[in-house]
Amino acid sequence: MYSTVVVSDRGADRVLGGHPWIYRSDVAQADAAPGDLVRVVAGNRRTLGLALWSSTSQIAIRMIADGGASKLPANEADERALFRSRFEAALQYRASLDIDATACRLVHGEADRLPALIVDRYGDDTGDYLVVQALCQGMDRRRALLTELLLELTGARGILARNDPKVRTLEGLEQTVDVWAGEVPERIDVREGAARLSVDVRHGQKTGLFLDQRENHATAARLARGRVLDAFAYHGGFAMAMAARTPERVLALDSSDAAVAAIRQHAAANGLSNVDAREANVFDELRELEVAGERFDTIVLDPPAFAKNKASVPRATAGYKEINLRAIKLLAPGGHLMTCSCSHNIDEIAFLNIVTDASIDAHATMMLVEKRQQASDHPVLLAVPETLYLKCFVLRRVS
Ligand code: SAH
Repeated sequence: MYSTVVVSDRGADRVLGGHPWIYRSDVAQADAAPGDLVRVVAGNRRTLGLALWSSTSQIAIRMIADGGASKLPANEADERALFRSRFEAALQYRASLDIDATACRLVHGEADRLPALIVDRYGDDTGDYLVVQALCQGMDRRRALLTELLLELTGARGILARNDPKVRTLEGLEQTVDVWAGEVPERIDVREGAARLSVDVRHGQKTGLFLDQRENHATAARLARGRVLDAFAYHGGFAMAMAARTPERVLALDSSDAAVAAIRQHAAANGLSNVDAREANVFDELRELEVAGERFDTIVLDPPAFAKNKASVPRATAGYKEINLRAIKLLAPGGHLMTCSCSHNIDEIAFLNIVTDASIDAHATMMLVEKRQQASDHPVLLAVPETLYLKCFVLRRVS
């Protein structure tokens, strides 16, 4: 009953090597409609598994189930069971994490074997709300199935689809924001650790918060000491966590005026009178702080992805080096720098090299205290390097 897509040997090798994507150049033969669940077959007619088909993206095939024909769902009822079991596994994993927050990621696309699907949970006193991103044709087409299963398995009061990321255009899909089910309030007041954060799930960046930094916020709180700088602060996830731990001033910088307003509001709501939020370009501000002779004991650098594609890696490398060099110069001996990169085109070793170069240019001796990554509700699959995108180093300035 499924359409069949035949792939090249190279495509088959990729899937057998554990990667869920096959590019259009490795599709030998396809007779499928946009978003179809298709049977993926190697040139020798061996069935490799089931996948979601995209008629427009360079990623033509996204595997959703591996294995020979006997293991695969045979009909629509089985398709529902397959999605159900994927959601159940994703929810069970999150339940095992003992997350100290009412907001977290429930489904992280390929890493949960639900390709191109993001589901975040934002909970407040009234209940849980889900924010979904369906980023390929196959997920977009299954809105009814996804809605039904998510409501059933999570008991959420409402589902908002933040289907506005630009990648949807590669799938020939519109960029839209709409409620799929129930009601979703304008603002959802969540808790992350000890901090209360008010989230605008319709207009905020990503689905409202950078949930991938939750565990790093907690680490920053443990490190926070003396005077603190949170650069690229967004709504102040790091600043709130750190301000509660130090009696001194915490300076939070972001170029977005809406973000700065949110930081101020969050500081007030959390009773933190030591947070100064400033609208600024971090590149300029770090230089000005240096000229003014300022020093900090704890610094966080959490810029947006500078390398969105391979072509931008050299420019991004220069950008990362610049901010890390400036931050190290501003760091007092004995102080800590937590430096992050969410560019998946710059891997952990490349990022470490950049930071090392920055430390040499700053004439600083830096100790690598800890290597961290995205929070564990954003899982990483060993065979899918793209799933490890957020790198975070904790460094200590020795001298
Ligand atoms: N640290 C935040 C997430 C930061 S996301 C958290 O833990 O929640 C990156 C932020 O950098 C965004 O809010 C964006 O507005 C801001 N930004 C991007 N370029 C900037 C620049 N050149 N200077 C200052 N802020 C910038």
